[in-house]
Amino acid sequence: MLPDLEHLIHLQELDSAADRARRRIADIPAVQQSLEARSAARAAAVQAVKDRIAATTASRRDVEKEVAAVQTRLSKYKEQLMSVKTNKEFTAMQHEIATAEGLVRSYDDRLLELMEAADQEAAELKAAEAAMKSEQADIARDEKALEAERETREGELQRLASEREAVASSISRDVMAIYIRVAHGRRGLALAEARGGLCVVCHVRMRPQVFNQVRRNDGINQCESCTRILYYVPPVTPAPAIEN
Ligand SMILES: [Zn+2]
Repeated sequence: MLPDLEHLIHLQELDSAADRARRRIADIPAVQQSLEARSAARAAAVQAVKDRIAATTASRRDVEKEVAAVQTRLSKYKEQLMSVKTNKEFTAMQHEIATAEGLVRSYDDRLLELMEAADQEAAELKAAEAAMKSEQADIARDEKALEAERETREGELQRLASEREAVASSISRDVMAIYIRVAHGRRGLALAEARGGLCVVCHVRMRPQVFNQVRRNDGINQCESCTRILYYVPPVTPAPAIEN
């Protein structure tokens, strides 16, 4: 094989690997953002339960205040009951007392409901906090893995760059210029294998004499359709069967 062609294949492998590494690095911020979003969602869930607990506590204080006011009124009515002069006044006062007592009972029911709600919410808070804690541990682990990935890829890019420099220096200037031009216009993919008379990248069939020329691997041939530099991989000859 023409040494330039062999080096180009190597160069393309290095460039494609570097491209993959750069894409992986470029994907990292989005993954980090989704981790932050997960963390924020858990924190919001905990805050929502805390808000409900605060609302329940406030309702309970309001009801307790109401109960205290009714109790005060009730003891006043009971004192007044001792000093009423007429039957009519007595009946009216008894009616007031019954109404107030009814009110106290309904407030007591409401307080019981609120206490049950508070118990339920305390359990929910515990669960939400446990879920947040476990999720945060997962997130911290994923963030660490992402950082490790970034370091690995950056190290890989450095290695690829120095290897690329060595390979590129062994390629003739003209051939390198073709590679760079095609790579630039073809998203970094400047080489294509020719197989069965087709360019495997753009799938366009080449003229038979072009394919024959490409199969020799002894020159720089470009696909007439996509302009990629073509190379040929000879079929692997099966190992001769071992005879007993
Ligand atoms: Zn092509």
